[in-house]
Amino acid sequence: MSEARAERLAALVAEEGLDALIVGDLVNPGDSGPDAIANVRWLTGFAGTSGLAIVGPERREFLTDFRYAELAERRVGDAFERVIFDGPVFEELGRRLRGRVGFDPAATSVRNHRKLAAAVGDDVELVAAEGLVERLRRVKDADEVDAIAAASRLADEALEWLLERGIAGKTERRIAFELETRMRELGAQPSFPTIVASGPNGALPHAIPTDREVGPNELVTIDWGAKLDGYCSDGTRTFATGELDEELRSAYELVLRAQLAGVDAVAAGAHGREVDAVSRGIIEEAGMGERFGHGLGHGVGLQVHEPPRLSKRSEDTLEPGNVVTVEPGVYVPGRFGIRIEDLVVVTAGEPKNLSGLPKELRVVS
Ligand code: ZN
Ligand code: ZN
Repeated sequence: MSEARAERLAALVAEEGLDALIVGDLVNPGDSGPDAIANVRWLTGFAGTSGLAIVGPERREFLTDFRYAELAERRVGDAFERVIFDGPVFEELGRRLRGRVGFDPAATSVRNHRKLAAAVGDDVELVAAEGLVERLRRVKDADEVDAIAAASRLADEALEWLLERGIAGKTERRIAFELETRMRELGAQPSFPTIVASGPNGALPHAIPTDREVGPNELVTIDWGAKLDGYCSDGTRTFATGELDEELRSAYELVLRAQLAGVDAVAAGAHGREVDAVSRGIIEEAGMGERFGHGLGHGVGLQVHEPPRLSKRSEDTLEPGNVVTVEPGVYVPGRFGIRIEDLVVVTAGEPKNLSGLPKELRVVS
Protein backbone atom coordinates (compact mmCIF):
# COMPACT_ATOMS: atom_id res chain seq x y z
CA MET A 1 0.00 0.00 0.00
CA SER A 2 2.52 2.58 1.15
CA GLU A 3 4.86 1.65 -1.70
CA ALA A 4 2.29 2.42 -4.37
CA ARG A 5 1.31 5.65 -2.69
CA ALA A 6 4.94 6.74 -2.32
CA GLU A 7 5.44 5.99 -6.00
CA ARG A 8 2.56 8.23 -7.03
CA LEU A 9 3.75 11.00 -4.75
CA ALA A 10 7.31 10.71 -6.07
CA ALA A 11 5.96 11.16 -9.60
CA LEU A 12 4.18 14.37 -8.51
CA VAL A 13 7.34 15.59 -6.78
CA ALA A 14 9.30 15.06 -10.01
CA GLU A 15 6.59 16.81 -12.01
CA GLU A 16 6.99 19.83 -9.75
CA GLY A 17 10.71 19.88 -10.53
CA LEU A 18 11.68 18.97 -6.99
CA ASP A 19 14.38 16.61 -5.77
CA ALA A 20 12.43 15.81 -2.63
CA LEU A 21 9.35 16.77 -0.63
CA ILE A 22 9.10 16.97 3.14
CA VAL A 23 5.81 15.37 4.20
CA GLY A 24 4.42 15.98 7.65
CA ASP A 25 3.87 18.49 10.38
CA LEU A 26 6.53 21.18 10.72
CA VAL A 27 4.39 23.27 13.09
CA ASN A 28 4.69 20.91 16.07
CA PRO A 29 6.92 18.10 14.86
CA GLY A 30 7.11 15.48 17.58
CA ASP A 31 3.73 16.47 18.98
CA SER A 32 1.43 16.20 15.98
CA GLY A 33 -2.29 15.60 16.36
CA PRO A 34 -4.30 13.29 14.08
CA ASP A 35 -5.03 16.02 11.50
CA ALA A 36 -1.42 17.16 11.36
CA ILE A 37 -0.15 13.60 10.90
CA ALA A 38 -2.81 12.66 8.29
CA ASN A 39 -0.53 13.02 5.25
CA VAL A 40 2.16 10.90 6.88
CA ARG A 41 -0.42 8.34 7.92
CA TRP A 42 -1.84 8.09 4.41
CA LEU A 43 1.64 7.74 2.95
CA THR A 44 3.29 5.39 5.43
CA GLY A 45 0.62 3.90 7.71
CA PHE A 46 2.25 5.56 10.74
CA ALA A 47 -0.25 7.11 13.15
CA GLY A 48 1.88 8.29 16.08
CA THR A 49 2.65 11.90 17.03
CA SER A 50 6.21 12.09 15.67
CA GLY A 51 6.71 11.26 12.02
CA LEU A 52 8.08 13.00 8.94
CA ALA A 53 8.73 11.57 5.51
CA ILE A 54 11.09 12.64 2.76
CA VAL A 55 9.95 11.50 -0.67
CA GLY A 56 11.67 12.01 -3.97
CA PRO A 57 12.17 10.07 -7.20
CA GLU A 58 15.05 8.18 -5.61
CA ARG A 59 14.26 8.34 -1.92
CA ARG A 60 11.75 7.17 0.67
CA GLU A 61 12.72 8.07 4.20
CA PHE A 62 10.65 8.01 7.35
CA LEU A 63 11.90 9.88 10.42
CA THR A 64 10.71 9.35 13.95
CA ASP A 65 12.17 9.32 17.45
CA PHE A 66 12.90 6.66 20.04
CA ARG A 67 9.34 6.55 21.38
CA TYR A 68 8.03 5.25 18.07
CA ALA A 69 10.86 2.98 16.88
CA GLU A 70 8.82 -0.16 17.37
CA LEU A 71 5.55 1.24 16.02
CA ALA A 72 7.40 2.47 12.93
CA GLU A 73 8.80 -0.98 12.33
CA ARG A 74 5.31 -2.48 12.54
CA ARG A 75 3.38 0.13 10.60
CA VAL A 76 5.80 1.65 8.13
CA GLY A 77 7.65 -1.52 7.23
CA ASP A 78 10.38 -1.59 4.62
CA ALA A 79 8.80 0.60 1.96
CA PHE A 80 10.69 3.45 3.63
CA GLU A 81 14.15 3.69 5.07
CA ARG A 82 13.37 4.12 8.76
CA VAL A 83 15.43 6.72 10.61
CA ILE A 84 15.25 6.96 14.39
CA PHE A 85 16.73 10.35 15.13
CA ASP A 86 17.97 11.76 18.39
CA GLY A 87 18.19 15.53 18.69
CA PRO A 88 16.58 18.51 16.97
CA VAL A 89 14.47 17.45 14.01
CA PHE A 90 15.50 20.40 11.85
CA GLU A 91 19.17 19.50 12.20
CA GLU A 92 18.33 15.96 11.12
CA LEU A 93 16.51 17.32 8.07
CA GLY A 94 19.43 19.64 7.37
CA ARG A 95 21.83 16.70 7.21
CA ARG A 96 19.60 14.82 4.78
CA LEU A 97 18.35 17.38 2.29
CA ARG A 98 20.01 18.52 -0.93
CA GLY A 99 18.87 20.34 -4.05
CA ARG A 100 15.34 21.68 -4.57
CA VAL A 101 13.24 20.60 -1.62
CA GLY A 102 9.49 21.13 -1.37
CA PHE A 103 7.75 21.93 1.88
CA ASP A 104 4.07 22.62 2.52
CA PRO A 105 3.60 26.21 3.69
CA ALA A 106 0.30 25.13 5.27
CA ALA A 107 2.19 22.67 7.46
CA THR A 108 4.83 24.92 8.96
CA SER A 109 5.09 28.11 10.99
CA VAL A 110 7.14 31.23 10.33
CA ARG A 111 9.40 30.29 13.24
CA ASN A 112 10.00 26.73 12.11
CA HIS A 113 10.49 27.66 8.48
CA ARG A 114 13.29 29.93 9.70
CA LYS A 115 14.81 27.04 11.68
CA LEU A 116 14.59 24.74 8.67
CA ALA A 117 16.19 27.32 6.37
CA ALA A 118 19.04 27.83 8.83
CA ALA A 119 19.55 24.07 9.18
CA VAL A 120 19.64 23.25 5.46
CA GLY A 121 22.00 26.11 4.63
CA ASP A 122 22.71 27.50 1.17
CA ASP A 123 22.96 24.18 -0.69
CA VAL A 124 19.24 23.66 -0.45
CA GLU A 125 16.54 25.64 -2.19
CA LEU A 126 13.35 25.43 -0.14
CA VAL A 127 10.32 25.60 -2.44
CA ALA A 128 6.71 26.08 -1.32
CA ALA A 129 4.72 23.10 -2.62
CA GLU A 130 1.26 23.11 -1.14
CA GLY A 131 -1.20 20.26 -0.98
CA LEU A 132 0.59 17.62 -3.09
CA VAL A 133 -0.35 14.75 -0.76
CA GLU A 134 -3.85 16.13 -0.31
CA ARG A 135 -4.28 16.07 -4.09
CA LEU A 136 -3.70 12.30 -4.02
CA ARG A 137 -5.68 11.74 -0.83
CA ARG A 138 -8.88 13.13 -2.25
CA VAL A 139 -9.36 10.05 -4.44
CA LYS A 140 -10.01 7.17 -2.06
CA ASP A 141 -9.18 3.58 -2.96
CA ALA A 142 -11.63 0.75 -2.27
CA ASP A 143 -10.16 0.01 1.17
CA GLU A 144 -10.50 3.61 2.20
CA VAL A 145 -14.11 3.78 1.03
CA ASP A 146 -14.78 0.59 3.02
CA ALA A 147 -13.19 2.13 6.11
CA ILE A 148 -15.32 5.28 5.81
CA ALA A 149 -18.44 3.15 5.22
CA ALA A 150 -17.66 1.11 8.35
CA ALA A 151 -17.25 4.28 10.41
CA SER A 152 -20.55 5.56 9.02
CA ARG A 153 -22.38 2.32 9.87
CA LEU A 154 -21.04 2.41 13.39
CA ALA A 155 -22.12 6.04 13.78
CA ASP A 156 -25.62 5.19 12.53
CA GLU A 157 -25.86 2.29 14.96
CA ALA A 158 -24.86 4.53 17.85
CA LEU A 159 -27.45 7.13 16.90
CA GLU A 160 -30.21 4.52 16.64
CA TRP A 161 -29.25 3.31 20.11
CA LEU A 162 -29.53 6.87 21.40
CA LEU A 163 -32.89 7.53 19.76
CA GLU A 164 -34.39 4.33 21.15
CA ARG A 165 -33.56 5.60 24.62
CA GLY A 166 -35.06 8.99 23.92
CA ILE A 167 -33.73 12.53 23.85
CA ALA A 168 -36.61 14.66 25.19
CA GLY A 169 -35.99 16.01 28.69
CA LYS A 170 -32.24 15.43 28.44
CA THR A 171 -29.75 18.27 28.14
CA GLU A 172 -27.88 18.73 24.89
CA ARG A 173 -24.66 17.94 26.72
CA ARG A 174 -26.11 14.71 28.11
CA ILE A 175 -27.22 13.62 24.63
CA ALA A 176 -23.80 14.36 23.13
CA PHE A 177 -22.13 12.49 25.99
CA GLU A 178 -24.34 9.41 25.56
CA LEU A 179 -23.83 9.33 21.80
CA GLU A 180 -20.06 9.72 22.04
CA THR A 181 -19.87 7.11 24.80
CA ARG A 182 -21.85 4.68 22.66
CA MET A 183 -19.49 5.19 19.72
CA ARG A 184 -16.56 4.44 22.03
CA GLU A 185 -18.31 1.32 23.35
CA LEU A 186 -18.68 0.15 19.75
CA GLY A 187 -14.93 0.55 19.22
CA ALA A 188 -14.65 3.97 17.63
CA GLN A 189 -14.17 7.50 18.84
CA PRO A 190 -15.97 10.69 17.84
CA SER A 191 -14.47 12.11 14.64
CA PHE A 192 -15.26 15.63 15.97
CA PRO A 193 -17.09 17.08 19.00
CA THR A 194 -20.75 16.10 18.60
CA ILE A 195 -23.19 18.92 17.89
CA VAL A 196 -26.57 18.72 19.61
CA ALA A 197 -28.60 21.86 19.00
CA SER A 198 -32.19 22.07 20.16
CA GLY A 199 -34.91 24.65 19.59
CA PRO A 200 -33.42 28.13 19.01
CA ASN A 201 -29.88 26.75 19.45
CA GLY A 202 -30.40 24.97 16.14
CA ALA A 203 -29.82 28.30 14.42
CA LEU A 204 -26.10 28.02 15.30
CA PRO A 205 -24.67 25.72 12.60
CA HIS A 206 -21.68 24.78 14.79
CA ALA A 207 -23.47 24.90 18.12
CA ILE A 208 -21.65 23.67 21.21
CA PRO A 209 -23.98 21.49 23.33
CA THR A 210 -25.38 23.40 26.31
CA ASP A 211 -27.29 22.57 29.48
CA ARG A 212 -30.54 23.37 27.71
CA GLU A 213 -33.06 20.56 28.10
CA VAL A 214 -34.67 19.33 24.91
CA GLY A 215 -38.33 20.31 25.07
CA PRO A 216 -41.48 19.01 23.37
CA ASN A 217 -42.56 20.02 19.86
CA GLU A 218 -39.26 21.41 18.72
CA LEU A 219 -36.42 20.51 16.37
CA VAL A 220 -33.14 18.96 17.47
CA THR A 221 -30.15 18.80 15.16
CA ILE A 222 -27.51 16.18 15.83
CA ASP A 223 -24.28 16.33 13.80
CA TRP A 224 -22.01 13.47 14.72
CA GLY A 225 -19.37 11.17 13.33
CA ALA A 226 -17.24 8.17 14.21
CA LYS A 227 -13.56 7.65 13.61
CA LEU A 228 -12.64 4.03 13.05
CA ASP A 229 -9.18 2.81 12.03
CA GLY A 230 -8.27 6.42 11.35
CA TYR A 231 -11.13 7.12 8.93
CA CYS A 232 -13.95 9.53 9.73
CA SER A 233 -17.66 9.64 9.15
CA ASP A 234 -19.81 12.75 9.27
CA GLY A 235 -23.60 12.96 9.27
CA THR A 236 -26.44 15.14 10.47
CA ARG A 237 -30.10 14.50 11.18
CA THR A 238 -32.71 16.88 12.50
CA PHE A 239 -35.54 15.36 14.56
CA ALA A 240 -38.83 16.60 15.92
CA THR A 241 -39.81 16.00 19.54
CA GLY A 242 -43.53 16.15 18.78
CA GLU A 243 -46.04 18.01 16.62
CA LEU A 244 -44.45 20.98 14.82
CA ASP A 245 -46.03 24.17 13.55
CA GLU A 246 -46.39 24.72 9.82
CA GLU A 247 -43.34 26.99 9.50
CA LEU A 248 -41.01 24.34 10.91
CA ARG A 249 -42.55 21.51 8.92
CA SER A 250 -42.32 23.32 5.61
CA ALA A 251 -38.76 24.45 6.36
CA TYR A 252 -37.84 20.82 7.01
CA GLU A 253 -39.40 19.73 3.73
CA LEU A 254 -37.46 22.46 1.94
CA VAL A 255 -34.09 21.36 3.38
CA LEU A 256 -34.90 17.74 2.60
CA ARG A 257 -35.74 18.58 -1.03
CA ALA A 258 -32.50 20.55 -1.36
CA GLN A 259 -30.54 17.70 0.21
CA LEU A 260 -31.99 15.00 -2.05
CA ALA A 261 -31.32 17.10 -5.15
CA GLY A 262 -27.78 17.79 -3.94
CA VAL A 263 -27.05 14.09 -3.47
CA ASP A 264 -28.39 13.38 -6.97
CA ALA A 265 -26.09 16.05 -8.40
CA VAL A 266 -22.96 14.40 -6.99
CA ALA A 267 -21.33 12.92 -10.09
CA ALA A 268 -17.91 12.46 -11.62
CA GLY A 269 -17.10 15.57 -13.65
CA ALA A 270 -19.50 17.82 -11.73
CA HIS A 271 -17.95 21.01 -10.41
CA GLY A 272 -18.09 21.71 -6.67
CA ARG A 273 -19.81 25.01 -7.44
CA GLU A 274 -22.47 23.34 -9.60
CA VAL A 275 -23.45 20.78 -6.97
CA ASP A 276 -23.64 23.53 -4.35
CA ALA A 277 -25.83 25.59 -6.70
CA VAL A 278 -28.33 22.75 -7.13
CA SER A 279 -29.20 22.64 -3.42
CA ARG A 280 -28.74 26.36 -2.89
CA GLY A 281 -31.02 27.18 -5.83
CA ILE A 282 -33.90 25.27 -4.23
CA ILE A 283 -33.46 27.10 -0.92
CA GLU A 284 -33.11 30.46 -2.67
CA GLU A 285 -36.25 29.91 -4.72
CA ALA A 286 -38.15 29.44 -1.48
CA GLY A 287 -36.86 32.84 -0.32
CA MET A 288 -34.58 31.29 2.32
CA GLY A 289 -31.22 31.82 0.54
CA GLU A 290 -30.02 34.17 3.29
CA ARG A 291 -30.65 31.42 5.85
CA PHE A 292 -28.18 29.02 4.24
CA GLY A 293 -24.85 30.69 4.91
CA HIS A 294 -22.35 27.86 4.59
CA GLY A 295 -21.05 25.59 1.86
CA LEU A 296 -22.95 22.49 0.79
CA GLY A 297 -20.28 19.95 1.63
CA HIS A 298 -16.69 18.86 2.04
CA GLY A 299 -14.48 15.85 1.51
CA VAL A 300 -14.11 13.31 4.32
CA GLY A 301 -11.37 10.76 4.89
CA LEU A 302 -8.55 10.64 7.42
CA GLN A 303 -9.76 14.13 8.29
CA VAL A 304 -13.34 15.12 8.79
CA HIS A 305 -12.86 18.22 6.62
CA GLU A 306 -10.62 17.83 3.58
CA PRO A 307 -10.78 18.55 -0.15
CA PRO A 308 -12.74 18.55 -2.38
CA ARG A 309 -15.26 21.24 -1.39
CA LEU A 310 -18.80 21.79 -2.56
CA SER A 311 -19.40 25.50 -2.18
CA LYS A 312 -19.94 28.78 -3.97
CA ARG A 313 -16.18 29.31 -4.10
CA SER A 314 -15.06 25.75 -4.78
CA GLU A 315 -12.36 25.25 -7.41
CA ASP A 316 -12.81 21.48 -7.36
CA THR A 317 -14.20 19.04 -9.89
CA LEU A 318 -15.50 15.72 -8.58
CA GLU A 319 -13.79 12.45 -9.53
CA PRO A 320 -14.66 8.82 -8.84
CA GLY A 321 -13.32 7.94 -5.39
CA ASN A 322 -14.09 11.30 -3.80
CA VAL A 323 -16.15 11.02 -0.62
CA VAL A 324 -18.10 14.19 0.14
CA THR A 325 -20.84 15.36 2.45
CA VAL A 326 -24.04 16.95 1.21
CA GLU A 327 -25.39 19.10 4.03
CA PRO A 328 -27.70 21.99 3.24
CA GLY A 329 -29.28 23.80 6.17
CA VAL A 330 -31.67 26.57 7.06
CA TYR A 331 -31.03 28.64 10.18
CA VAL A 332 -33.49 31.17 11.58
CA PRO A 333 -31.91 33.07 14.49
CA GLY A 334 -33.85 32.90 17.72
CA ARG A 335 -36.22 30.32 16.29
CA PHE A 336 -34.82 27.08 14.88
CA GLY A 337 -32.31 25.39 12.60
CA ILE A 338 -32.39 22.40 10.28
CA ARG A 339 -29.56 20.52 8.63
CA ILE A 340 -29.51 17.15 6.90
CA GLU A 341 -26.14 15.63 5.98
CA ASP A 342 -25.19 12.46 4.15
CA LEU A 343 -21.83 11.03 3.20
CA VAL A 344 -21.66 10.24 -0.51
CA VAL A 345 -19.12 8.41 -2.67
CA VAL A 346 -18.55 9.73 -6.19
CA THR A 347 -18.51 6.87 -8.70
CA ALA A 348 -18.45 6.63 -12.48
CA GLY A 349 -22.24 6.10 -12.28
CA GLU A 350 -24.82 6.80 -9.57
CA PRO A 351 -23.52 8.33 -6.35
CA LYS A 352 -23.29 5.84 -3.49
CA ASN A 353 -24.81 7.10 -0.25
CA LEU A 354 -23.04 5.76 2.84
CA SER A 355 -25.57 7.20 5.28
CA GLY A 356 -28.16 4.61 6.13
CA LEU A 357 -30.62 6.54 8.28
CA PRO A 358 -34.00 7.69 6.91
CA LYS A 359 -34.48 11.37 6.19
CA GLU A 360 -38.24 11.89 6.38
CA LEU A 361 -39.10 14.02 9.40
CA ARG A 362 -38.96 11.68 12.35
CA VAL A 363 -40.57 12.25 15.70
CA VAL A 364 -38.55 11.03 18.66
CA SER A 365 -39.54 11.38 22.26
ZN1 ZN B 1 -21.39 17.06 10.08
ZN1 ZN C 1 -19.90 17.95 7.50
